[in-house]
Amino acid sequence: MIFVIVLLFGLIVGSFLNVCIARIPLEISIVTPRSYCPQCKTPIRWYDNLPLVSFAVLRGRCRTCGQHISWRYPLVELLNGLLFLWAIFEFGFTGEAVLVMALCSTLVVITFIDLDHQIIPDVITFPGMVIGLAVAPFFMSTLAVPLPFGLGIILPPMGQNAAAFLNAFIGLVLGGAPLYLIGLLWEKLRKVEAMGGGDVKFMAMVGSFLGWKGAFLTIMLGAMAGSVVGVTLILLKKHQADKVIPFGPFLAFGTLLTMFRGPEIIAWYLGFIRI
Ligand SMILES: [Zn+2]
Repeated sequence: MIFVIVLLFGLIVGSFLNVCIARIPLEISIVTPRSYCPQCKTPIRWYDNLPLVSFAVLRGRCRTCGQHISWRYPLVELLNGLLFLWAIFEFGFTGEAVLVMALCSTLVVITFIDLDHQIIPDVITFPGMVIGLAVAPFFMSTLAVPLPFGLGIILPPMGQNAAAFLNAFIGLVLGGAPLYLIGLLWEKLRKVEAMGGGDVKFMAMVGSFLGWKGAFLTIMLGAMAGSVVGVTLILLKKHQADKVIPFGPFLAFGTLLTMFRGPEIIAWYLGFIRI
């Protein structure tokens, strides 16, 4: 029963995420006006705005003008609902689960905005960084080991909260740095912008939540997923090799894996090296 409620909550939030995905890149308020049909501009009544159900009842068409509604709306709702369920299964009813759920929703929004517009808006990543730093003392991620590189020995002794904040800050800097440097190098070599500044800020945000280890793992997983998909698309001739594929969705995928399976992946990888 409780899992049904979590799923329903995830679907409702997912419905709101659709509004965010459509409106944030256009810099329209996500609160007002109420949702309307993009074709006939008729405001959508509440009973036509129920996650999944309304799409099925209306058979994917606007009640007023019959215009097709994109299958992406129910997909985003379902995706978010399932991610919320996964968060509860994995972390139980904890504050950490709430943060993971919030981060999941953010990843969904970033993924679809990047797919649509090839941008990752600052209005998401900057507040994300601030929140990541602010919650660090309470969000003791298993990946965010207190103070990397033996800094704890060099620095004067500090409270656990201060150490957690410093760790989040190091995650923020070291999360953004690799993509920033790769982008800089690429620009020098090819004289074109390869890595969007949005990706850099996105990874800085991820680093502030997951720490520097989590950020590095995210970039590795994202690059691996991006290579597999990119090469597959080129082999299938669905994509020209010189066109840019947005990296945000792959980084979001990497973040998701790191959040849910990071410690296991790192342990597996280290075990691999010892053999
Ligand atoms: Zn309509």
